[in-house]
Amino acid sequence: MTVDLRAQAVTAGAVPEVCARHGQPATRRGKTVFRSYTPKWAYVLLLFGVLPFAIVAAVLQKRVKAPTWPFCADCGRLRIRRLLIGVGLVVLAVVGAVALSALLPPSDSTAGPIVLVFVLLLIAGLGVASTAANGSIASGYVSKDGSILHLRRAHDRFAEQVAALRRGPVPQPHQAYPPPYPEAGRPQYPLYPVAGPQYGPATPAWPGQGQGDQPR
Ligand SMILES: [Zn+2]
Repeated sequence: MTVDLRAQAVTAGAVPEVCARHGQPATRRGKTVFRSYTPKWAYVLLLFGVLPFAIVAAVLQKRVKAPTWPFCADCGRLRIRRLLIGVGLVVLAVVGAVALSALLPPSDSTAGPIVLVFVLLLIAGLGVASTAANGSIASGYVSKDGSILHLRRAHDRFAEQVAALRRGPVPQPHQAYPPPYPEAGRPQYPLYPVAGPQYGPATPAWPGQGQGDQPR
């Protein structure tokens, strides 16, 4: 399920004690930046070049910085796995490209498509490595207006703690506090006047004035 947190609370550090993904107690708390998605229409700007797109995307992007986001041991392992796969793909692409340039004569016609494969491999590696970032491990993204942090596929325990945080501290029964002043010395006012003031019959303000809407 997707769980929503107020961005304000997240920045203030009001976050659960368990990680969002596995619902396990946090073994590490890390600074985590959550971002909003780039609106789909902005991709049209790619037709005019990468730079206009990048500028608009950066301006529109909303960020929420969590100072102490919880991560469990499994989150840590997932992070290392993604990092290793990402770096592995990048290394493979670089080594492959170097080997290719050493093995093939420069005029070989198959070099072009093979280089393209290595470039795609490089991009894929960087992409996977970027999912090792805290925000991706937590699987959170920010709403368009920047006010809400959505957690995708949040664990039930995480959702429960978020609900508890939202309810706030448990209110204490009134008996826990001494009364503001002794009951005995307290003047006993009736909550409402027992009988309202008795108004007399309406009198004309000056002679000859009518009685308003009152029936005659
Ligand atoms: Zn976890």
